[in-house]
Amino acid sequence: MPELPEIEALVDHLRRHAVGLPVGRVDVAALSVLKTFDPPINALHGQVVDGAQRWGKYLGLHAGQLFLIAHLSRAGWLRWSDQLAPAPLRPGKGPIALRVHLGTPGSAPGFDLTEAGTQKRLAVWLVDDPAKVPGIAALGPDALDVSADDLAGLLAGNTGRIKSVITDQKVIAGIGNAYSDEILHVARLSPFATAGKLTEKQLITLHDALVSVLTDAVSRSVGQQAATLKGEKRSGLRVHARTGLPCPVCGDTVREVSFADKAFQYCPACQTGGKVLADRRMSRLLK
Ligand SMILES: [Zn+2]
Repeated sequence: MPELPEIEALVDHLRRHAVGLPVGRVDVAALSVLKTFDPPINALHGQVVDGAQRWGKYLGLHAGQLFLIAHLSRAGWLRWSDQLAPAPLRPGKGPIALRVHLGTPGSAPGFDLTEAGTQKRLAVWLVDDPAKVPGIAALGPDALDVSADDLAGLLAGNTGRIKSVITDQKVIAGIGNAYSDEILHVARLSPFATAGKLTEKQLITLHDALVSVLTDAVSRSVGQQAATLKGEKRSGLRVHARTGLPCPVCGDTVREVSFADKAFQYCPACQTGGKVLADRRMSRLLK
């Protein structure tokens, strides 16, 4: 799932390549991705793109008085093309959900919003105000704008587990499963630590880790031609998706806690004092 750094890279690409171009045509291949009906999607035709923006894990273009906003969800991506084919998309075929021609179709660049797999969760809105997208209206402050004091305030009194709390977009916007694993590993915190019970020292360490992990990932991602690559391109992960491999810091084996449809990873030696956290799926398999 693309998180803040990947979305930032895609938005950076749009700022450099899409701004200044007119929307030629928008093809909707999967009607279910479009969450708004008024204004109609063809209200964008002829409007010149004058900005690209990120809100947490949402990205969008501004053209005329309108914002075209997308949430890529788990398996979505934005794929840029210097010259898009002019033929209309065939509804329901292939991974392309929506195509935006920037100029006259057939002789102009543009991009596709794509979604792999069978679970269709990619969502697109056309609105005159980003706050009309319910998920954006509910976002907490952006992870890159949160100071150490802000973080302490956001977590104060929260009885949830730190892993769940920092991935709750209503608390802090932009962090998902992968980067939260990385942040907690750098901060040497258990994913199951109670958010509101961190010491002042732990809060400062967590904030430092949050800033360093995200800014490193942004600088690695931006300019990497993210928009011409498929998703899932992440380098430098220390624990996320590395179950069974050695921790790059201490050499202990990276462990996993799995749920019905997702899993997270951590290093016991670095994060939990060597304790292996209960994993319901593993214990079921061992019965
Ligand atoms: Zn370790």
